Amino acid sequence: MKNWIADRTASFDSSGIRKVFDLAANMRAPINLSIGQPDFDVPEPVQNACIEAIRAGKNAYSQTQGIGPLRQRLADEIRAALPHADREVLITSGTSGGLVLAMLAMVNPGDEVIYFDPYFVMYPALVKMAGGIPVPIDTYPDFQIDVQRVADAITERTKLILINSPANPSGVSAGEATMRQLADLARQRGVALVSDEIYSRFQYDQAFVSPAVFNDQTIVIDGFSKSHAMTGWRVGYVHGPAEVITAMTKMQQYTFVCAPQPAQWGALAAIDVDLSDHIAAYRRKRDLIVEGLADRFELATPTGAFYAFPKAPSGSGTEFVRRAIERDLLIIPGGIFSGRDTHFRISYAASDETLRRGIEVLRELA
Ligand code: PMP
Repeated sequence: MKNWIADRTASFDSSGIRKVFDLAANMRAPINLSIGQPDFDVPEPVQNACIEAIRAGKNAYSQTQGIGPLRQRLADEIRAALPHADREVLITSGTSGGLVLAMLAMVNPGDEVIYFDPYFVMYPALVKMAGGIPVPIDTYPDFQIDVQRVADAITERTKLILINSPANPSGVSAGEATMRQLADLARQRGVALVSDEIYSRFQYDQAFVSPAVFNDQTIVIDGFSKSHAMTGWRVGYVHGPAEVITAMTKMQQYTFVCAPQPAQWGALAAIDVDLSDHIAAYRRKRDLIVEGLADRFELATPTGAFYAFPKAPSGSGTEFVRRAIERDLLIIPGGIFSGRDTHFRISYAASDETLRRGIEVLRELA
């Protein structure tokens, strides 16, 4: 098998996160604070809508752009919030599918893509898959975006800036002023701004503000995985300028084809589900984590998503996680999400009992 594997595959590595998952598989009853998905089940109206769609024979391909009723419903909501003349919607195979299509449709080999460290694991890999050059911007220790640093990092080759707020893995959100400055900067410098808003509904202290409010060319990627506990259903959506959405649609036609049709009918029902109880529960869990850890760990207060990203009290993040795993606590070393191996990620999408046990072990280790 000589040279069968393309350079793009060799350009990134996923063994770190796989090692953590393998460890988890071998632990008998871990205190599991590693999972990046909600701990509630898919809401019943969503389950019913999907089952009804299957029974009604809605099992074929949908249009590449997505089923009409879901696209229309999302378009109505999006245009009410962002009344831009030029904004189209595409249903994708999860938020990940939207991210892949954005890279394929926009990034040329050699183009630079700016994003923020710590980052969602897929970002540098996706940039490289498209032949692009990852340009991470360090945001330690508070994980806030310094827009001047972004301005300084922009070159002739910068194609896009990828932002994720509230962020995985830090749980920190960008405030309105930062979003406005970043949106203005992207417009002034002619750089595309891609906003991964998968956690926007899980925002606890102030309202979520999309950079699309300040820059009508912003490409927004969103989805139902986290908000409605539908990670396995693979439904996301993208909205942005028609030219970009058309290019992404063409890419989807010849790759994913469409998001699973029955799951799209489920997503249509999901839009009417009231999430306020779940969001209130996560706000309370966030408070539990902050109260439990703030006096023992250096911790940037998480304001959204369901993650916290404390600093390991001594040694590396990897070393700290190894000690936690010896005590049956599963957390993720920060080096998976970062050029630095100094922190660790906690997901607080877990029962209160699991959180209490986890906090106890962490306090003892500190
Ligand atoms: N973006 C971020 C920031 C995420 O954390 C995740 C899931 N972990 C995704 C995208 C992908 O979500 P989906 O299941 O919709 O592909």
